[in-house]
Formats: sequence, C-alpha cells, structure tokens
Amino acid sequence: MTGPALSDAHGSSGARLIDGKGFAARLTQDIATEVSAFYDRHRITPGLAVVLVGNDPASEVYVRNKALQTHRAGMRSFMHMLPATTSQEELLGLIARLNVDPEIHGILVQLPLPGGLDPVAVTNAIVPEKDVDGLGVVNAGRLALGLPGIVPCTPLGCLLLLRHYVGDMRGQHALVIGASNLVGRPMAQLLLQEGCTVTVAHIDTRDTAALARQADIVVVATGVRELVRGDWIRPGATVIDVGISRVSLPGGRTRLVGDVKFDEVAPHAGLITPVPGGVGPMTIACLLRNTLDAARTIVEGRAP
Ligand code: NAD
Repeated sequence: MTGPALSDAHGSSGARLIDGKGFAARLTQDIATEVSAFYDRHRITPGLAVVLVGNDPASEVYVRNKALQTHRAGMRSFMHMLPATTSQEELLGLIARLNVDPEIHGILVQLPLPGGLDPVAVTNAIVPEKDVDGLGVVNAGRLALGLPGIVPCTPLGCLLLLRHYVGDMRGQHALVIGASNLVGRPMAQLLLQEGCTVTVAHIDTRDTAALARQADIVVVATGVRELVRGDWIRPGATVIDVGISRVSLPGGRTRLVGDVKFDEVAPHAGLITPVPGGVGPMTIACLLRNTLDAARTIVEGRAP
C-alpha cells in the first residue's frame, strides 16, 4: 500500500490519498515503451480514431485531451469532428470505414450523442476488436461471463488503482453506487471477478447509506455531487470517487467536485481518491492501454 497520508488540514486520522494522476502518468510511460517495442516488431504504430458529433464544450475538451495523451504515448490519433446535423447513416458509414481501416486499431465515439442518434446502434457498429471503450454487447457480454475482452476504461482504471493500493480484495464487501453501462455495471463485474461480495445501489435503492456502512470498498459513479457523506463510510474503508461535476464559484470561475463529500469522508476512509486527480487521469491511460492491446490482438492475432 502506498500513497501519502492526508494532512491534518482535513482532520484526517490517517486516510491515504490514492494518487491517480501519478499512477496514470507511470502507466502512460510504460505504454509508450511498449508502443515503441511494438513498432520495432511490426513497423506499425497503433492508431486511435475518436469521433465527436456536435460541439458540446465538455466533450470537445475530453476528446482533445485524449488526442494529446495518445500522441504522448507514441500512438497515432485520428480525430473526426462531425456537425450536430450528422445523420445516423452518415455516422454508421464513417464507423464502417474505420472498422476496415488498417491504420486504425481503436475506435471511440464520444458520448453523449446529440438527440436523434442512437448510441446503442452506434456503439455496436464498432467491430468488437476495435471497441476500445468496451461498451458493445460482445465485450460487455465477455465481461459478464468472465471471459477476456476489452473492459470499459473508467472501471478498468478504478480496478488498477484498487489492485495497487488494496491488493487482494477476496472476501471484501464492495458497494458500487450507480449502475450505468459505462461505469457501475462493468465495475460490479470486475469486483466480482476479484472475489468481492458485490452490492450495486442505484436511484431506486432504499437506503444506500446503510449499505455503504457495511462496505469495505465503495465505488461511487452517480453524477450526484457530494452524495456520499462522512457518516456513510465505515472506518478504514476504501472510497473511489468516479463522479465529476463542475460547480460555479464567485468571479465566474469553476471547480470540479466528485460524488463524495471529501472533507467529511476523508477522516473515516482508509484510502480515498481525490477529484480531480483520482479516477479521471486513469480513464485516459486505460484508453491508451486498450488501444495498444487492440493493436496487439489485430496485428499479432492474440486473444484480447
Ligand atoms: P449515468 O447518469 O449514466 O448513471 C448514473 C447512475 O447513478 C444510475 O445508475 C443511477 O441510477 C445512479 N444514481 C443516480 N442518483 C443516485 C442516487 N441518489 N443514489 C444512488 N444511485 C444514484 O452516469 P455515468 O455515466 O455512470 O457517470 C456517473 C458520474 O461519473 C458522472 O459524474 C460522470 O461525469 C462521471 N464519470 C467520470 C469519469 C471519469 O473518467 N472520472 C468517466 C465516466 C463518468
């Protein structure tokens, strides 16, 4: 177990901060080394295509950041910025071309899509071996069956942090708050595979706080800012905060907050991720990991 203890400024009795930013930076460095070795073997540079439809400002920031990190890892990035008026047929046509493009090893369609476009049909149009978000039915089904496949980036990032900071999770009680296809559901599957006893809470769950008080590990992905309060967390528990909400500050500035009320929870937790600097950087690092793995599967014919 590593990571600095939180300062007394938080009234902490020794909770450790999970350094997702540092961990992601090391992961990206390792991937860059592997990308270089892959190029030496095959004279091929892994390529990631990112498709953005419309001009949602938050999504634009995300995809530019993904492109930047892809270059940093030595891979090629192909951005497709389409107007909000793009039809389903046009989008599916682009995906069909990317599916057979030998320079592309990973395809990511940034969600949410503008109204009128069907995210399920679009996600499932990506061939499973290039589905680096792991959101198609083939990869989701593989995960549900405990078979190897491409795992969605955010829960994979949470898993890597948990493995590093907690280690063996067998027998631990894990509570996942949030049941989205993007985060909560795949997270629950991964924790089950680690040998945890898993509970999933969602919007209709009656007493999420009571469930949290029994948990050794709490992963929160709801988008409800500061949902998890100090008295929800039992002493020494591990808390992974996936949530990202932007709140306005006086003077027109903004700041990011998570789904956990950090100052209240940190004194009780054994380990806790900050927002920002926790799960967020891991998501992009895992996208790079998935893209390199996809290139290996395609070029070397390895099982994913
Ligand atoms: P979503 O809206 O698709 O799903 C939210 C889930 O939370 C649902 O299952 C819902 O039932 C549940 N929920 C809502 N309110 C609840 C409550 N009061 N109590 C219990 N459960 C509740 O959201 P998502 O795509 O899973 O994203 C969740 C959050 O994670 C968002 O803030 C999003 O921005 C963030 N996110 C961050 C990253 C990252 O890289 N850090 C990646 C993906 C999503």
